[in-house]
Amino acid sequence: MADEFDFIIVGAGSAGAALAARLTEDGRHTVLVLEAGGSDRNFWVQMPLGYGKVYYDARVNWKYTTDPVPGLNDKPSYWPRGKVLGGSSSINAMVYVRGHHRDYDTWGETAPGWSWSDIAPTFKRMESWSGGADDLRGGDGPLAVSDVSAQAHPICAHYYDAARQIGLSVNPDYNGADMEGAASYQITTKDGLRASTARCYLRPAMKRPNLRVETKAHATRILIDQNRATGIAYRQHGQTKTATARHEVILCGGAINSPQLLQLSGIGPAALLSQHGITPIHDAPQVGQNLQDHLGYDHLYRATVPTLNQSLRPWWGKLRAGLQFLLTRRGPLSLSLNQAGGFVTLTEGTDWPDIQLYFSPLSYTRAPAGTRPLMSPDPFPGFLLGFNPCRPTSRGHMAIRSADPLTPMQIHPNYLDTEADRALMLAGTRLIRQLAATTALQSIIDTRITPSPDTNSDADLLTHIRDNAWTVFHPCGTCRMGCDPASVVDERLCVRGVTGLRVADASIFPTIPSGNTNAPAIMVGERASELILKDAR
Ligand SMILES: Cc1cc2nc3c(=O)[nH]c(=O)nc-3n(C[C@H](O)[C@H](O)[C@H](O)COP(=O)(O)OP(=O)(O)OC[C@H]3O[C@@H](n4cnc5c(N)ncnc54)[C@H](O)[C@@H]3O)c2cc1C
Repeated sequence: MADEFDFIIVGAGSAGAALAARLTEDGRHTVLVLEAGGSDRNFWVQMPLGYGKVYYDARVNWKYTTDPVPGLNDKPSYWPRGKVLGGSSSINAMVYVRGHHRDYDTWGETAPGWSWSDIAPTFKRMESWSGGADDLRGGDGPLAVSDVSAQAHPICAHYYDAARQIGLSVNPDYNGADMEGAASYQITTKDGLRASTARCYLRPAMKRPNLRVETKAHATRILIDQNRATGIAYRQHGQTKTATARHEVILCGGAINSPQLLQLSGIGPAALLSQHGITPIHDAPQVGQNLQDHLGYDHLYRATVPTLNQSLRPWWGKLRAGLQFLLTRRGPLSLSLNQAGGFVTLTEGTDWPDIQLYFSPLSYTRAPAGTRPLMSPDPFPGFLLGFNPCRPTSRGHMAIRSADPLTPMQIHPNYLDTEADRALMLAGTRLIRQLAATTALQSIIDTRITPSPDTNSDADLLTHIRDNAWTVFHPCGTCRMGCDPASVVDERLCVRGVTGLRVADASIFPTIPSGNTNAPAIMVGERASELILKDAR
């Protein structure tokens, strides 16, 4: 293939890999994928629990850091993002959540064609759910989703009993008709290995002659001629190269890099661009605005019974788990740390969960942004009970720091900016304490380590939350989709003000879904392929 393609996709992440696979399926279109990272053939990427190892690994990770966050007592927040084939689906915690139908009905109000009834078939088509197909779940899609409840650590049973004791239901399938209740997390793995979009979508598609994937290829600018995107300039192996798109350029760089590439290319707030010497092509004040993320908060308990800490901390425990994984592809290394959790509606008068729970049968002390692997289990038996509010109302923003494409964005997440978000953090904390106070959990709790047993008043708790809350790694919304003229992309994902250019990744979410964001990002990639192929016809 020459350096001219029908479509150029920037980023082979959750959305980009799915989009590339679908666009090349019928063999009628040529597609170039530019990925800034390298191959995902890396042991720690393929082994599910290896995400603790790559958390700070610059070989596969952009390792972003936000600006100091006023709501977090002026501390910055460390934001890992995948820089590798599969993008963040290659380094994430694999929890698979589609979201609530009302998340998408809300999208549909601002972007016709994105209501639950419109996108439910896409979710169904994209997955192979190990629990089997039914009206809502898919059985033969590319993305493997596994029920691993049978392998959960025995102390998860105490969590489910605790949930029942405070009146929560235990839900066998939160991706089915009802999201509410305590649940075992479904994860994107297949045969004990990570099911990233690189593995499930891209690799099979890379055998096709009409798909070319360039790794270590960092897109630096969209080439625009008379308000039409005609190609991409990129850096690869120290050289500047260009590729031409006959039909369209599609940005799938994720919630940080897609708005960055738009701004670098002259599509963004005109004053900001001029300040950095970039000639504005289209004044789009919303590019980089509307940033949303889930903010999580943990309680750490010392247990009276062995937890995964005892299995994974000593060298002989690591050896045993390693051998079990290598020989059988089973055991703790084939799972996520988030073995149980679920969704709870706390706000009276709604039937839409507003708290997501996480139960990890292992505890670790989160290292400050540094080099220590994330998951170095504590030396005592411990477990974590955490949560995040599902739909925060605080909105952040991001902006280029300079015209240099290799300089990271300024990121202002603005966590805990609204009273509603602060109130829900406190309500979630009370829910955790209610769970911990049940006989089911009291029977295995020795002490609460963090927050300390005397951190109880709302004021003390809020201070502790501000010091210890963490990103759940779900930034989105920075190239907002909508049918209003101020939105960055319209409901067909086309960038306003420039033709031949779309964005398809987590940046287009108008509002953050109630659960984790990998499944919704892949859905956006799938949906983009439906829209693009329809328009190409
Ligand atoms: C540590 C971590 C844990 C997470 N855990 C979960 C979880 O358990 N469940 C869940 O559902 N979600 C989880 N997420 C979030 C989820 O993985 C992301 O929301 C999702 O992957 C976003 O998809 P995307 O397509 O928008 O971006 P990405 O998957 O990040 O893809 C963007 C791709 O574009 C490439 N790229 C960017 N800029 C350029 C450029 N200029 N040139 C070329 N290529 C470029 C990147 O390298 C990357 O490969 C987690 C994320 C992280 C980081």
